[in-house]
Amino acid sequence: MENQRHFETLAIRTQAERTHFREHAVPLYLTSSFTFEDAEQGRALFAEEILGNIYTRFSNPNTSELVEKLCKLEGTEDGVATASGMAAMFISMAALLRSGDHIVASRSVFGSTHQILTQILPRWGIAHTYADLHRPESFQQAIQPNTKMIFVETPSNPALDLIDLSWLGEIAHRHGIILNVDNCFATPYLQNPARYGAHIVTHSATKFIDGQGRVIGGAVLGKKELIKEVRFFARHTGPAMSPFNAWVLSKSLETLAIRMEKHCANALEIAQRLASHEQVAWVKYPFLPTHPQYELARRQMRLGGGVVSFELKGGAQRAKKFIDALQMLSLTANLGDARTIVTHPATTTHSKLTEQERTAVGITPGLIRISVGLENPADIWQDILQAIEQSKEELEK
Ligand SMILES: *Cc1c(COP(=O)(O)O)cnc(C)c1O
Repeated sequence: MENQRHFETLAIRTQAERTHFREHAVPLYLTSSFTFEDAEQGRALFAEEILGNIYTRFSNPNTSELVEKLCKLEGTEDGVATASGMAAMFISMAALLRSGDHIVASRSVFGSTHQILTQILPRWGIAHTYADLHRPESFQQAIQPNTKMIFVETPSNPALDLIDLSWLGEIAHRHGIILNVDNCFATPYLQNPARYGAHIVTHSATKFIDGQGRVIGGAVLGKKELIKEVRFFARHTGPAMSPFNAWVLSKSLETLAIRMEKHCANALEIAQRLASHEQVAWVKYPFLPTHPQYELARRQMRLGGGVVSFELKGGAQRAKKFIDALQMLSLTANLGDARTIVTHPATTTHSKLTEQERTAVGITPGLIRISVGLENPADIWQDILQAIEQSKEELEK
């Protein structure tokens, strides 16, 4: 019965066991350790003959509840919650790879993931080759005899390019390679990479999963035997999520479905309005029929997501004027918040890349990224529209 329940129900009804107080909502377990009933139970817990909480670096009722819920929503067997999305990305690689191994990664990964691949993992003899989402065959071409992992984000940030996960899953299986998908942009509500063959699904819970810009967190989810290694690595190196953040994030998941429906509806409306404005050079959104991978997006994602990228006529200069003319929308580097956020990736989130690297992942100097929030879409559009007009006047001065 329970495994036939739907997404929203699982997100609400997956809950840590009630205490003798019979609380309705789950309490916050702020405790660094847990007591043993007697010497024998302490021994058995450490010997892993029985399962139970020992110390919050290993597990805690709040983090366990979050992981159990995320597993049900993603269709994965097991998982580990981490202090940040980057801790999740790092341990998913460091725990599963050895010196001499090789990763094939999409070129358009999150900035800090790029740093891990290019600056940190090579210290321990783990190499990588980048492949391009818009040339899927480049993934096959990049595979070497020592390739142990394929790492992708789909849709990519901020170019919103996709890759066919069932195609990639098949290639990974054929070569015996671990497919690791950072599913932060789509969230488990829009897309479940494990159902397409991904062995590992990684998350920054900081974005849409929290959804209200409050806490940092992450998770590594996947096959039992792989998560066993990730758990060993996390237990002894210590990137544990705090119980408080786990409590916040588990509560957030209760409203993920309803929030994503609204984020996506608002984003589609903003994308459509931008597409029909004569001052807009181009718009990219996975559920706009003009997106080059529209068919794939419809097949692979439930809805188009909460992020829209576009460029105004006048490029980088115009983008700056547009951003400065905004009155309500937030100027910050985060995304996936109830508040609509506008970012200029070329000078902020992706400024560490060279111009050439940015071009290769579709980040033009004038690209503007909007993480569309939950405000009334008419008000979001009103602010965008007045900033389009204001920036035109400014540029013509
Ligand atoms: C934000 C983000 C991360 C990093 O997550 P943090 O929680 O900030 O550490 C990783 N991947 C993607 C796609 C992200 O957007």
